[in-house]
This record gives sequence, C-alpha cells and structure tokens, in this order.
Amino acid sequence: MSNETMPNFLKKRAFLTPDRTAVYFQEHTVTFSELYHRSQKVAGQLQTLGIKKDQFVGVLLKNHLDTVVILFALQLIGVKAVILNNRLTAAEIAWQLTDSKASFLIIEDAFAKMELVHLISLKSITKESLFQLEPMEQIIQDEISLSDICTIMYTSGTTGKPKGVIQTYGNHWWSSVGSALNLGQMESDCWLCSVPLFHISGFSILMRSVIYGMPIVLHDHFDAEKTIADIQAKKVTIMSVVGTMLTGIVEALNDRRLSNHFRCMLLGGGPAPLPLLNACVEKDIPVFQSYGMTESSSQIVTLSPEYSLTKLGSAGKTLFPSQLIIVKDNGSPAEAGEAGEIIVKGPNVTPGYLYRPKATKKRFRDGWFYTGDIGYLDADGFLYVIDRRSDLIISGGENIYPAEIEAVLLAHPAVSEVGVTGIDDAKWGQVPVAFIVKNNVVSVDDLQQFCLNKLARYKVPKVFYFTEKLPRNAAKKLLRRTLREWVKDIEYSRN
Ligand code: ATP
Ligand code: MG
Repeated sequence: MSNETMPNFLKKRAFLTPDRTAVYFQEHTVTFSELYHRSQKVAGQLQTLGIKKDQFVGVLLKNHLDTVVILFALQLIGVKAVILNNRLTAAEIAWQLTDSKASFLIIEDAFAKMELVHLISLKSITKESLFQLEPMEQIIQDEISLSDICTIMYTSGTTGKPKGVIQTYGNHWWSSVGSALNLGQMESDCWLCSVPLFHISGFSILMRSVIYGMPIVLHDHFDAEKTIADIQAKKVTIMSVVGTMLTGIVEALNDRRLSNHFRCMLLGGGPAPLPLLNACVEKDIPVFQSYGMTESSSQIVTLSPEYSLTKLGSAGKTLFPSQLIIVKDNGSPAEAGEAGEIIVKGPNVTPGYLYRPKATKKRFRDGWFYTGDIGYLDADGFLYVIDRRSDLIISGGENIYPAEIEAVLLAHPAVSEVGVTGIDDAKWGQVPVAFIVKNNVVSVDDLQQFCLNKLARYKVPKVFYFTEKLPRNAAKKLLRRTLREWVKDIEYSRN
C-alpha cells in the first residue's frame, strides 16, 4: 500500500460518523450513512449503464441533493467527473465535453431540452431516468490514490478559452486541510452553500463536509432573506460568498444582526470593494477575504477578520500547506511592496491542464504555478492582488492596472458598472479608455474631473464610452479582452 493511498472519502466518513447530518436541502435532512447508501445505489445504476472506473463523465446539474449523491456516486466507482457550468451556452458545454473526451453525460430534465443534446455525439441520460434504472451489484473503490483525478473543472475563461483543470483527490484533501488549519474546525460547524457546486467554491464545500464530518446547508440559488433565516434556523457558522452576495446580505439585514454563532463569511472570487468590507465591520459580520482559483482547488490565501481593517484590501497570507512568492519580469523575486506575478506552490495546486502539455508547461516552472495575476506582498507578508497580467496597460513606460481605475470610477454615484482597457496611441504606446454603464445623467467632463482628483494624470481614461451592458462571462466576470475587440471595432468604423 503506497503512502498515496487513502480510504474512499465518503465510505470512510459514513463509517466514522454515520448518524451525523451531512446535508440539509429544502425539507430533506440526510445523514452521512444515508448519503453513502444513496450514492451506493446510484453507483450501481451508473454501472448498469456501462459507466466504468477511469472514464470521464460530464455532469450538468443544478444545486440539489441529487447532485451531491451523483457526485459522490462517481467517486465511489472511480469515475472522473467533468463538472459543467450550467450557465454556459449549449455550444460552450458541447465544446468542454468534446475537449475532455467525456464518454457520457448526466444531465437533468430541466436542461435536457437545450439544443445541447443535438450538438453532442456522446451518450447522455437524465438523472430522472438514471434513478429509475435497476442498480447492478456495485463495485465500490474502497481506496483512492491521492494522485488520482477526482474532478475536471474548466476555468472561467476570463483571459482566454477555458482550460480543463485536473483536480486530484490530493488537491481536494489538502485544500480542505489547509482551510481547516486556518479557520479552525469545530464540532458545531455547519457550512452554507449557495454558490454553484459546479465551481470549486461550491464543490470544495462538499469535500470539506465529508472530510470534516460537517453538515452543509445546500441552497439551489442565492437568496439573501433565505440565507439570513437559515443561518438562524440551521445554526450555520460559515458561508462562502462572492462580493455581490455579501452586498445583498448586508442590504437585506438592515438593522438586524446575524446570529451570534455565525463565525465566518468566506469571501472569494474577485477583489472585494472596500465600502463593502467597511459595512461588514459595522454590522459585526466576520469576513475572511480570500484569493484562489480553479487551479488551486479553492482558496490558497486568506485574510482573517482581525486584520480586516489594518490590512484593508489584502487577500491575506497563504494557507499552511502552500507557498507564494512574487516574481518580477526578469524572474527574480520582488521586494516587499514591489509588484510582480503571483506564483504559488502546494499540494492543493493542480498537476496541470487536461490534455494540454504545452499550456501546462507554460504555467509551471520548477514546481511553481504562474497564476497570471499581478500583486505584491507587504513587509509582513500579506498579499495584495492588483490585476491580471494580460490586462496590464503600458503607457509611456508606466504600468497602469485597469482594476485601479475601475475601482475609482465605481465610487462615482452615477456609475453602476465600468470596464477599462487600453488602446494604441502614437505618442504613449497605449492609453486607458473606459466603458461606463451609467444609472444617472453624467458628463464625460464630470467623470474626467472625478478621476483627476483621485488618479495620476496618465491613468485617467482618455476616452469614455457609454454602453448599456458590459461583456461578462458565465461567472459574471468582466471580459476585458472583449472590450479590446470593441475598441478595435470603434476605431475601425471611424477610419
Ligand atoms: P481563466 O483562467 O480562464 O481566464 P479565471 O481565471 O477567471 O478564468 P477562475 O479560476 O474562476 O477563472 O478565477 C480565478 C481568478 O479570479 C484568479 O486568478 C484571480 O484573477 C481572480 N481572483 C480570485 N480571487 C481574487 C481576489 N481576492 N482578488 C482579486 N482577484 C481575485
Ligand atoms: Mg485563471
């Protein structure tokens, strides 16, 4: 038995604490033992279909108890789940299924009518039909190897075409352990999951549930009032959120407070707006900011609330199992305060991209993963994420980060959304331009003056375009590469 071998996670958990609650979903409460038995049955049904160990199987499902059961059933039989984002278009999903060489697709009735089914040649079955099948005698994988592939998840496709990220059992295990060593693991813990299970933010909660023996409250979508009610009723102690969700909770709370037993909002996915962090301090909502990516199988850097104010805007320090350094363009490590590319290392970091040796090679050097994000460390080792490397604007030899300009413009009361990118300029090489979605009358002069008060002159956008809507991907992240296309089109139509 190699030291890479561990018992099957769910099977072990069902043996250790069978009667503890695993999942609260709508009116259902399921213990680990029940979750194991349900997953075992579905494992048999999957085997009836001819699905076998080591195959890749696509899953296109909603946040639902059945999804939890199916995801664990796949683990029980050693099948690699290609977890698909159900907000993508049919063409995007079809592309990911082909790209991952999935041999089967599990879908649900609600999605089965999508034109997707006509776009793909692989076999598919709805979960509703799957659950009707006569289960075979199951062949359960009692053991897993930490280096085995557990899941494939595609990156959000913010900077380019999405890439399939390999996530091993070891990646998930160490991600869970790193999180527990930071947040602490208490017997009373209960984690609310209303982020999608198809993102690492949601899926990692499932893995923590089984590894820690901790109940989760699963919501099929985010609803601020339901969140506040369930934090009270189900004694939720931790919740994963992105900025817009936390804003929703703060607004819905009004003069109310969250229950005393609540101990952590784990905030991730993107930069946290400072006014939101301040509002949370005011309302006694403990916020742990974090930085992570699909490739690091969830958070890799986290800031505890005790530093919320002194290190405002920082994403924190790396979790125990992981390391991080900042490197300059010439490859040497940056000094404190100096910006460069964030590179990370740790057992939670992916071994690479599925079937993409070239892309993998490009992002790894000497065991370090090059995140493509720019940031700096302060003198105490706290990380500040600045922006994506690919979005950097270089103007007259100065680096300009679109995110900095966007943060300034967002503070203008008439601006509801903003995206900044660079255009070619004969004199400066590149200059910044801004696309604005306004919610009130505002002039370009106003916006320019507003920026001049807060930014160095060379950072002030040279052109402001008003638009109805900004280009975003399925994760609602701003697509600056599309803004660059828009600029080209505008230039083209002018000439
Ligand atoms: P793609 O890799 O296809 O371009 P993506 O990087 O947006 O897509 P994800 O893995 O979902 O795909 O997102 C991770 C990225 O989100 C990080 O690399 C970083 O750019 C951004 N991010 C995450 N947390 C933070 C944070 N706290 N502050 C700023 N940016 C963050
Ligand atoms: Mg990325």
